[in-house]
Amino acid sequence: MLANAHPALEDFAAAIVHWQQQAGRHDLPWQTSRDPYPIWLSEIMLQQTQVSTVINYYQRFLARFPTLQALAHATQDEVMPYWAGLGYYARARNLHRCAQQVAEQWGGQFPREVCDLQQLPGIGRSTAAAIAAFAYGERQAIMDGNVKRVFTRYFGLYGNPASRAVEIELWDCAQSVLDAADPKLDMAAYTQGLMDLGSGCCTRSRPSCEQCPLNTWCYARLESRQHELPTPKPKKAGRERQCKMLILEQNGKILLEHRPSRGIWGGLWSLPQYDDQHALADACLGLGADIEQGQKMASLLHVFSHFKLHIEPWYLRGPLTRVAEPSPEQAWVAVEDLPGAALPAPVRKLLCGINEIIGSAGKHIP
Ligand code: SF4
Repeated sequence: MLANAHPALEDFAAAIVHWQQQAGRHDLPWQTSRDPYPIWLSEIMLQQTQVSTVINYYQRFLARFPTLQALAHATQDEVMPYWAGLGYYARARNLHRCAQQVAEQWGGQFPREVCDLQQLPGIGRSTAAAIAAFAYGERQAIMDGNVKRVFTRYFGLYGNPASRAVEIELWDCAQSVLDAADPKLDMAAYTQGLMDLGSGCCTRSRPSCEQCPLNTWCYARLESRQHELPTPKPKKAGRERQCKMLILEQNGKILLEHRPSRGIWGGLWSLPQYDDQHALADACLGLGADIEQGQKMASLLHVFSHFKLHIEPWYLRGPLTRVAEPSPEQAWVAVEDLPGAALPAPVRKLLCGINEIIGSAGKHIP
């Protein structure tokens, strides 16, 4: 079905706005402001992460970095603890770089034009459009995962939504809707309405079509094809990796390693990680420890978007045979300082798992 041939195109946006006002979300913390800084922050956090998870992170982040200038002047090490646990850490690094770029090149004010916003680190076409719509009321189409679901179902668009061809069709449909809408369309309400509809009504399984403002002309509903759309992405063979992690404790301190800024958990503090038992044993010798004296703990599986990581943790407590000299990227961190460290979620979980052991030495990881 072609978007420009659709009988109800001119009613689409108005129906979304009306529904948003009646049934959409109005109490999200970032909805109280038209300041692009908190709007941008929320949009970046909401990429790949659900609203319920984002709210606490958003509030904590804004309390620490209340302005773009405060964020731009911070170091990456100061920023990362406020992102630890949210995942997709490239977002945090880009966020920081973006703040610095806006401060240096735009006098601390986010540009208004979508084409300028899109030049900034971490801001793609849809995020730029959402910022411009919420902050400045600009008439720009968005296309996140939830919105793709609404459009593929409404217009009956088959094919992998991540493919270039379907992406182009989706953006064309979104633009056609805006072209057909009232020139005075409330862009903030429309944009929020699309997001709310995709996440709360047109859900992946069992969409609430009876409550949907688009149900009269929705292809999927009229043809009972909701379960077919969006077309599932072709499944990739799941990759699996194994690693060993060392939890080395000495005098109430744990050895941590700063991850390189690129790659998984980039810029965070993690436990020293090794590919196999030989590498772990060698590293322990270098640190004045003997892995034979260590305790193997319960394994942990962490699922990334593109592979699964099987972590086998080994706990070892000093005294070490000599004063261990950590490498430049390693540091001894006091147990009481761990809660404030930028740790990936599974590493935090592992360290909490050794609470009982560490507790016997009078220390606890809260
Ligand atoms: S009618 Fe149903 S399938 Fe169609 S957009 Fe609404 S909720 Fe989604």
